[in-house]
Amino acid sequence: MKTTLRTEITVRDICDGFVYNELEGKGLFGLSGRLVIQPEYQRNYIYAESKRDVTVIESILNRYPLGLIYFNKVADDRFEVLDGQQRITSIGRYVTDKFAIQRDGKPQYFSGLAKDLQELILDTPLLIYECEGTESEIKAWFKTINIAGVPLNEQELLNAVYSGPFVTLAKAEFSNSQNANIQKWSAYISGSVSRQDFLACALRWVSRDNIGQYMSLHRFDTDISELKTYFNSVIDWVSGVFSDVEKEVCGLEWGRLYETYHNQPYNPKEVSDKVHDLYADPYVKNRRGIFEYILGGCADTKLLDVRVFDEATKRTVYNRQTAEATAAGVSNCPLCAIGHEANRTKIWKIGEMDADHVSAWSTGGATDIRNCQMLCRTHNRAKGNR
Ligand SMILES: [Zn+2]
Repeated sequence: MKTTLRTEITVRDICDGFVYNELEGKGLFGLSGRLVIQPEYQRNYIYAESKRDVTVIESILNRYPLGLIYFNKVADDRFEVLDGQQRITSIGRYVTDKFAIQRDGKPQYFSGLAKDLQELILDTPLLIYECEGTESEIKAWFKTINIAGVPLNEQELLNAVYSGPFVTLAKAEFSNSQNANIQKWSAYISGSVSRQDFLACALRWVSRDNIGQYMSLHRFDTDISELKTYFNSVIDWVSGVFSDVEKEVCGLEWGRLYETYHNQPYNPKEVSDKVHDLYADPYVKNRRGIFEYILGGCADTKLLDVRVFDEATKRTVYNRQTAEATAAGVSNCPLCAIGHEANRTKIWKIGEMDADHVSAWSTGGATDIRNCQMLCRTHNRAKGNR
């Protein structure tokens, strides 16, 4: 890969022909139309939501360095921003009066700045590395830089590596904050649209967790209907089975649950009643497990992380059981005591026993001392497996 350091390009040059897409929050073009600011593999413009827009302009006014900017030379006198897109967009937005900075306690737009300050900004040269190389060289290198601003996350890197018509279409659907479905989807999917979390989720579901492979396979597809259809099937299924949108449903592994359970019938009313019961149950420690627990037929109580007896309760019950058993000359494990084995009269140590719900939690037994008995390990395990 060939690189050339350029120091003569100024803010004025970059901002000539600057185009900003307000809807998508993207800087698009600059350098008199010869520069593509946001190529396909770049992340969405992230500074817009923060104070960093202002910071970039203040750095220029204070003559602080803005850091290196990287251009990819795509043709003669044609460039794409490889790194520095956010800084360039901040500069372009300021010069075109899209936001104000604070000076002497007052908001100041570019057009309202003193002439000498305007000139100072426009004449500021940028430190630009121009890179020339094959697509794979540039991409491999881009993967390693991640220099300024927010580091790219995994999906953003994958978008860079597999850029093409498929990623373009997929981003228009799943990384587009103007998409009216986003609000509905965010009940089930956590993360941010602009950081590609929804796209990552859609891809994870359709690919059964093989995102990279799927993207590579479909890279040049001009159709994303499989991705969309699968995604919508999952969302329709979840919202059909669970009519209550509790906050705990957000970010669950809906793709996996869909794969496992979507062929089973559920009665939404019964499901909803069960959800409410379990939400009201003080012994359920893990509410996020409620949904899979119900889907699986209310069998796997491990998913709920049901509250267990505390040490003081166990000790009290152990002492009482042991005193009664010793007086009666039988084992302090009530199940050993009624058995026919050698352990009929065995007094177990507390460390050799476990606490058990006399009537099981899953059939309404409470986790309090009246429902606690100590069993030897073997009997407790045998009971738990029934
Ligand atoms: Zn026993």
